[in-house]
Amino acid sequence: MLNIVLFGPPGAGKGTQADKIKKHYNLTHLSTGDIFRKNIKSHSDLGLLAKSYMDKGNLVPDELTIKMLESEVKKHSESFGFIFDGFPRTKDQAIALDDFLNLNGTEVSKMIALNVPENELIKRLLDRGKASGRTDDQDENIIANRIKVYEKNTAILAEFYKKQNKLAEVNGLGSIDQITSRIYSAIDNL
Ligand code: AMP
Repeated sequence: MLNIVLFGPPGAGKGTQADKIKKHYNLTHLSTGDIFRKNIKSHSDLGLLAKSYMDKGNLVPDELTIKMLESEVKKHSESFGFIFDGFPRTKDQAIALDDFLNLNGTEVSKMIALNVPENELIKRLLDRGKASGRTDDQDENIIANRIKVYEKNTAILAEFYKKQNKLAEVNGLGSIDQITSRIYSAIDNL
């Protein structure tokens, strides 16, 4: 199985790149943000709970997020592999993912970390907010909090995967196609 963790701050281009990678390698794309937004749209209990955190740009609690992610992976047991987009975002989530994949006889193959400077992130998020209507992309205070939460809780995960020799850092600036081909090289070098 090929299991890719696509990593980077909000606005790094994870969703755009995940769409291309999943087709190229025939992987199942799991975006925790997308799954939460789907639940909000359908007014499920999970959506209602997640919304209260997402509206402020805070992380949804680990227990809830991990349970949801594991159940999504189980739904796709026939898959050739996964691309995890926006998960893990905390050390506990990363440990839970390792344990869960190990139990199922597999592991994270590689973390692809997209590097993008902060001024570019803010610009991209505000542009996306105009196009998509995502409320958490339209408010500069919420954006600032998401980037702060990323720095505080999530950025350390690069080190977590580096220690396992699984980190590949990719320059996230340039055209979409340029970035995609950098990612393909990193994956093909596995
Ligand atoms: P995203 O679509 O990845 O930008 O995520 C949007 C929002 O969903 C985040 O700001 C969090 O509130 C929530 N979220 C997404 N993934 C996670 C996760 N792995 N852990 C906790 N919260 C998450």
